[in-house]
Amino acid sequence: MGCEKAAKFVLVANPNNPTGTFIPIADIERLVAESDRLVVLDEAYVDFAPDNGLRLLSRYPTLLILRTFSKSYAAAGIRVGFGLGHPELIGRLRNIQNVFNMNVIGHAVGISVLAHRAIYEDNHRHITQERERVASALSQLGLSATPSDANFLLVRVPAGHDGRWWQLALERQKILVAFFPDEGLEDCIRVSIGTKTQMDAILAAISDISGRSKMGISPAAQ
Ligand SMILES: *Cc1c(COP(=O)(O)O)cnc(C)c1O
Repeated sequence: MGCEKAAKFVLVANPNNPTGTFIPIADIERLVAESDRLVVLDEAYVDFAPDNGLRLLSRYPTLLILRTFSKSYAAAGIRVGFGLGHPELIGRLRNIQNVFNMNVIGHAVGISVLAHRAIYEDNHRHITQERERVASALSQLGLSATPSDANFLLVRVPAGHDGRWWQLALERQKILVAFFPDEGLEDCIRVSIGTKTQMDAILAAISDISGRSKMGISPAAQ
């Protein structure tokens, strides 16, 4: 935690993107308790995780939790997120915030989404179950997924081709996955979890591409 000394604040995404990994809340609490900086906990994917940091808020005025409607509520189009914090911290943020807040339509839709949170629970449950099914199906196809607590899997592709190659091969079958050219992620793709039909389609495509690749056939061949 050496660089923390010079930092104005500490930002932790939990679950993290693109790994999908989740840091236990006890470890987050230790970080908040030991740091004299503001800790911003980005919980964009927390609805797919086993826990969250809400219970820390009343005890730590240096913790700000950020959430969004863009992921688990499938409402990225309203471009609205929200923050949760100790009244002391929120009071200070209120003092510096622009008098022109978010637009009224986004505000109304966001409030409505929160009021109907329960109707999203089936979808969250589906995604977490489907995530586990897809992870084990991928491992049978020779691809390994990092254990994930988000709505996506970071998947290591088999030796021979990198993540970019797999991204393009899947794109030819009209399946979009993310690729990150960053160091250490070259051999990975990020697969978002969708409906069962969509996930069956990507599993079939991966199986097909693997078969062709082993036979030395280019994935471009239709
Ligand atoms: C998507 C995402 C957000 C929120 O994005 P908005 O659509 O701008 O609300 C925040 N953090 C992470 C890590 C994300 O992946």
